[in-house]
Amino acid sequence: MTTEEMQKRIEKEFADRFGGEANVYASAGRINLIGEHTDYNGGFVFPGAIDKVIMAAIRPNGMEKVRVFSIDIDEYVEFGLGEADAPKESWARYIFGICREIQKRGGDVKGFDTVFAGNVPLGAGLSSSAALESCYAFALNDLFNGNKIDKFELAKIGQSTEHNYCGVNCGIMDQFASVFGRKGHLMRLDCRSLEHEYFPFNPEDYSLVLVDSRVKHELKDSPYNKRRESCERVAKKLGIETLRDADMDDLNRIKSDITAEDYLRAKYVIGEKERVLAVCDALNAGDYETVGKKMYETHEGLSKDYEVSCVELDFLNDVAKELGVTGSRIMGGGFGGCTINLLRNDLHDKFVKEVTARFNEKYGHEPMIYDVVISDGARLVKEAPKA
Ligand code: ADP
Ligand code: MG
Repeated sequence: MTTEEMQKRIEKEFADRFGGEANVYASAGRINLIGEHTDYNGGFVFPGAIDKVIMAAIRPNGMEKVRVFSIDIDEYVEFGLGEADAPKESWARYIFGICREIQKRGGDVKGFDTVFAGNVPLGAGLSSSAALESCYAFALNDLFNGNKIDKFELAKIGQSTEHNYCGVNCGIMDQFASVFGRKGHLMRLDCRSLEHEYFPFNPEDYSLVLVDSRVKHELKDSPYNKRRESCERVAKKLGIETLRDADMDDLNRIKSDITAEDYLRAKYVIGEKERVLAVCDALNAGDYETVGKKMYETHEGLSKDYEVSCVELDFLNDVAKELGVTGSRIMGGGFGGCTINLLRNDLHDKFVKEVTARFNEKYGHEPMIYDVVISDGARLVKEAPKA
């Protein structure tokens, strides 16, 4: 469904259920171009919002309850606004959580009627949950708080919702990207200072394609914690808080005092910081070939040094390279999920066809392909006429 079709569908459903018109809001899913496993090392991430959104019609109802219909789940739920009123439906808990987290911060939320839908694929690594949270956080700030809550706080409200109402202990990147996203721009977020900067990403001759392997390897020995511990051990040895403050000379100085494994982990993290900064320069110069090169280097680092890849993702990366894709790498934590690919437009159709066929031949199922365009984040799509 296109975003325009979705909006029509939502407005019609709202009119049928609640009568009349409502404001329409949207917020986006996100990609991360580069900067992986960097957040807990105080480093940089480099996300952008995409042209796949959660969209909602919302109107205050003068009651003390929220009445919500999810078009995609085809389910209607009502809930009150007190802490004890949490709905049992997991999708509705995202909206409830946003209401509660705004209230906890002293903000205002009253009852409202709402209908929503989305075209961000669920659980594909594009953060549909952050799109949902950011859509409602932005809308409730506009409808009940005169937009007094600042945008970064809106992102934190989404993050706290995941922590406190959905059982997901996530970082801030997804919500940040969904709230702050801007058409034609990626954002470098400094995970230590939480400062951000926009960089142009508007390639006329290139496009972004995600290839979702649809595999997720369950691993027993909590590899994420192990990676973190390695990084912490090396930082401690260097007498610094996080690897953000180290360079390769520092690391090589203590090489003989740490395990070979910890060395490789830290080498990846330090390299990734430098790659993000190189990508910033390249984007400012409109040099997408260098951007692509850095993406391949990141994949190599994630696969060989950080060891969070898997055969399926390495296969996708090899096929991309062979077909002449400009840049390709694992997106997300690893051990499955997506690769993000930057490629010349004239290669697009061939790549999609070949990578789908070859992956299917080797692993017995087709990957999902998602074309993405860097777009705006949270926004008011349409204001209902004043009654
Ligand atoms: P993702 O990686 O896409 O964020 P999550 O598991 O974190 O995956 O979030 C997906 C959840 O968000 C869904 O299970 C559902 O509860 C909610 N959600 C996302 N998109 C929609 C939608 N279009 N309609 C209803 N709920 C949605
Ligand atoms: Mg999520």
